[in-house]
Amino acid sequence: MSSTTSSTTSSTNAVEERIAFIGLGHMGGPMAMNLAKAGYAVTAFDVSPAALERAGQAGVMAAPSAAAAVEGATVVISMLPASRHVEALYLGEGGLLSHLAAGTLVIDCSTIAPASAQRVSLAAETRGVAMLDAPVSGGTAGAAAGTLTFIVGGEAQALERARPVLGAMGKNVFHMGGAGAGQVAKLCNNMALGVIMAVTGEALALGVSHGLDPQALSAMMAVSTGRSWATEVCNPWPGVKPEAPASRGYAGGFGNDLMLKDLGLAVEAALQVGAAVPLGELARNLYALNSRAGRGRLDFSSVQQLVAGDGGPLG
Ligand code: NAD
Repeated sequence: MSSTTSSTTSSTNAVEERIAFIGLGHMGGPMAMNLAKAGYAVTAFDVSPAALERAGQAGVMAAPSAAAAVEGATVVISMLPASRHVEALYLGEGGLLSHLAAGTLVIDCSTIAPASAQRVSLAAETRGVAMLDAPVSGGTAGAAAGTLTFIVGGEAQALERARPVLGAMGKNVFHMGGAGAGQVAKLCNNMALGVIMAVTGEALALGVSHGLDPQALSAMMAVSTGRSWATEVCNPWPGVKPEAPASRGYAGGFGNDLMLKDLGLAVEAALQVGAAVPLGELARNLYALNSRAGRGRLDFSSVQQLVAGDGGPLG
């Protein structure tokens, strides 16, 4: 697998691409708005009328269905919750692939199973439609600011065509290999993140139980070998980092149940090739327990509550 990175750039020619955008949720909404802001003609569809209306206020044209949105489109972008939504959109009865002209470029930015991405890509290829799997990193803040990182699988030629479009929504592009490789790489990153967050919470809880100040412990760890994004930025202990979700009751951020979904996909991907991911499996169970404890919609750093037990930061 190749691993290259480069900053995206905009080109005026590229604005001639006509974009259909499917899925205007927390991520897709601001991404579509950034495309419209960059001068692209964007027609969008979401099953939620409220999401369509919000995007409409930012220059995105609303379509009554996905099939209507892709009429005349040269690029189709989707940002949907999970594999089943993406497969149903493109492959289902009356699926979008049957509506697309040869030469159309499909970019799916959802985080889904690598095998699903490969299935859709293969079906697209038989119709002369190029497809990239391009899941993102950077969260809702990155989507709003247009600073997302795209982690891409698919043909290099299709990626070259996509670069200006991606440049209107993000800052960096990593080409990881062929179809599905973007999804594999995204799952590897999130599996590491899920494990690191849980063990950081465990370390902080241990220190606090011994009377340490979580702020002092975090400050030391942030410049020592235990450092990570979890200690420095999204610290799971309330009050340590004022900007972190933990300091606002774990609201916003990256939902526990999205992390749970990604860890499930990582475990599935491991089973497919016989890889051992013991910590990934353990972490998946921790986030499942955190969800069952009622914290599914909170930021995933709320796993701190689970690992701290009754003596946890919110009691
Ligand atoms: P979301 O639930 O906010 O948005 C999904 C949108 O898709 C919703 O508006 C929903 O109405 C719409 N939708 C569902 N089925 C549809 C269909 N058949 N046709 C049209 N619209 C449909 O989810 P999100 O947070 O925007 O996440 C989207 C994807 O991005 C997920 O795969 C997620 O794992 C990934 N992701 C999310 C984040 C994050 O921080 N939220 C970060 C990185 C990656």
